[in-house]
Amino acid sequence: MRYIEPHGHMVSRVTDDYQDMMSCGCQAVCEPAFWAGFDRSSADGFYDYFCQLTEHEPKRAARFGLPHYCWLCINPKESEDVKLASEVIELIPQFLDRPTVLGIGEIGLNKNSRNELKVLEMHVDLAARHDQLILVHTPHLEDKLKGTRLILDVLRNDSRIQPGRCVIDHVEEHTVKSVLDQGFWAGMTLYPESKCTAARAIDILEVYGSERIWMNSACDWGVSVPLAVPRAALEMRRRGHTAEFVDRMIYQNPIRFMSQSPRFKVV
Ligand SMILES: [Zn+2]
Repeated sequence: MRYIEPHGHMVSRVTDDYQDMMSCGCQAVCEPAFWAGFDRSSADGFYDYFCQLTEHEPKRAARFGLPHYCWLCINPKESEDVKLASEVIELIPQFLDRPTVLGIGEIGLNKNSRNELKVLEMHVDLAARHDQLILVHTPHLEDKLKGTRLILDVLRNDSRIQPGRCVIDHVEEHTVKSVLDQGFWAGMTLYPESKCTAARAIDILEVYGSERIWMNSACDWGVSVPLAVPRAALEMRRRGHTAEFVDRMIYQNPIRFMSQSPRFKVV
């Protein structure tokens, strides 16, 4: 088996996780910028975090032979403070030329507030001005449908943005269709407690097909499983999907999307 982990918050994980992912055939891991579990007190905290994502974590991953890529932004959970967000967004362009940066993410909405929307628009503008790919976090549970609609509206209202260069993550049964119908990519997050189980994700694939869609573990500092993608692959095989189908879902599809960035290379 070979696979790409398109969404893993590896700075929160231990070296055993890198070894396990390599043992299961992981070929690359992509790390979106994320909330640290607490609010950072200044833009300086983000500067250090962007250094960690672009310099230090790729080196740690390389010790285990795993290529590490990242996405940069201020996460929606910290977007309530628009002044802080604009200071952080001003820091980002100096990092965009670094060799492992894939784009702007994970941006989006958390509580669908007015300030979050404003910061989302600032990020979309940043991505458009610098011709970057976009990775979007959609809110959880009851806010997800409304939040997904708001996010898709922001992206479609900016004529510089091409839907095929944006992935909308954490889709579920009630949001995946509108994402795919409007030409965006969709990410399904496999979580043991919330978001999507492997069984539900495979149901979604069987209904909506395997174009422009991928699976990820979104493993972070909370309850999450770094090997969720290879485990879902075993479940796909158990349900009778071919090895070719599984390979397309967990390896070829992420490569197709990520290769739109000239920096993404899988050997
Ligand atoms: Zn995430």
